[in-house]
Amino acid sequence: MTLNKKVAIITGASSGIGAATCVDFVKNNANVVAVGRNLENLKQTSAACTKANPKVKCLIIQADVTKDTQKIIDQTIKEFGKIDILVNNAGILKSGTILDTESGDFDSIMDTNLRAVFQLTKSVVPYLIKTKGNIVNVSSVAGIRSFPNALAYCVSKAALDQFTRCVALELAPHNVRVNSVNPGVVITEVHKRSGMDEKAYADYLELCKSTHALGRVATVDEIAPSIVFLASDAASFITGSLLPIDGGKNVMCPR
Ligand code: NDP
Repeated sequence: MTLNKKVAIITGASSGIGAATCVDFVKNNANVVAVGRNLENLKQTSAACTKANPKVKCLIIQADVTKDTQKIIDQTIKEFGKIDILVNNAGILKSGTILDTESGDFDSIMDTNLRAVFQLTKSVVPYLIKTKGNIVNVSSVAGIRSFPNALAYCVSKAALDQFTRCVALELAPHNVRVNSVNPGVVITEVHKRSGMDEKAYADYLELCKSTHALGRVATVDEIAPSIVFLASDAASFITGSLLPIDGGKNVMCPR
C-alpha cells in the first residue's frame, strides 16, 4: 500500500485515532494536513510525523471543523496545490437518552459529527474530482447498531453512514471513492471528554470485555491501518463500504 506524494487532510488530528492516522499516512509517504483546535497537541502530532518520516510534510491547521472550512481548503491548496484524500475523523460524544438530551447537546453533536463533514466534504470534492481522490469517514459501530443512552451520537453516526453511501454513488462517475471505518470502543480521549471520570471510564472498559466478541477494546494502532488501506490504491474497487473494526461487536446479539 502506498500513498506516495498524496495530500491527505485529516481532521481531529490532535488526538486519538486522527493523530495515529497522520503517523500511518506519513509512514506510507503521504503529505498530511493535520486539522484540530488544540495547537499544542497538533504540534505533538506533527513532531511524531516528522520522526516517522522526515521526507514528507505535516502541515498543521488550527481550525474548528464547524466553522473554518475555507481556512482548511485555502491553507492546504496554498501549501500543496492539490487534495487527494479527505479523512473526516473529528468527532464528539455525549451520553443521553430521549428523556434527558438537551437540544443544545443534540445540535453540537450533529454540527460536529455530521454538518461539518457535509460542509468540508462539499468544499473538498471539486479538488478530489481533479485528482480522482477518495474520502474515508470515521463513523462508529454506533452508526450500524443501536445503543441506549447515546441517542444523539448514534443518530449522528447512522446519518454519517448514509452520507457515505449516498456520496459514494454520486461521486463514482468521477472515480472518487467514499468509504467509512466503523470502530468499536477504542482507547482515546473521547469518552473522558464526554464527561466520564476515571472510575466510570475504567468500569466501562471492564464492561467492554463482554460487549466485544474478542473480549477487549482496541488501540488506535488497530484503526489507522484500515484508514490507510481504504485511502490507498489497494482499495481501488471499494466504494460505499462501511468497514467495522470492532472486535466483532456489531455481529453480537443478546440471547
Ligand atoms: P478524541 O477525543 O481522542 O479525538 C477527537 C478529535 O476530534 C480531536 O482531535 C479533536 O480536536 C477533534 N475535534 C472535535 N471537535 C472538533 C472541532 N469542532 N473542530 C476540530 N476538531 C475537532 O477521540 P477519538 O480519536 O476516539 O475520535 C475520533 C473519531 O473516532 C470520532 O469521530 C469518534 O466518534 C470516532 N470513534 C471513536 C471511538 C472510540 O471508542 N474512541 C469508537 C468509534 C468511533 P481538538 O481536541 O483539537 O478540538
